[in-house]
Amino acid sequence: MALEQDFRFEKFEEYFGDADQVKKHMDNCNVCNAKLVQTHLSDFKNLIVQETARCPECGQGNKKIIHVIN
Ligand SMILES: [Zn+2]
Repeated sequence: MALEQDFRFEKFEEYFGDADQVKKHMDNCNVCNAKLVQTHLSDFKNLIVQETARCPECGQGNKKIIHVIN
């Protein structure tokens, strides 16, 4: 699957702490802690949701995550 080269699948094992900390980690820039702007692109044909997040403050912290729709 070619997408695996461009995106990583979400793994909660990468994060630590409880659910609130995980959510904060995912919602805020890891550089300046500003709230990230997130977009979700659904691809129902392939049953995935592509999520990208970018920091409006410093431009860092952008990431791409694929959620597999079950
Ligand atoms: Zn930032």
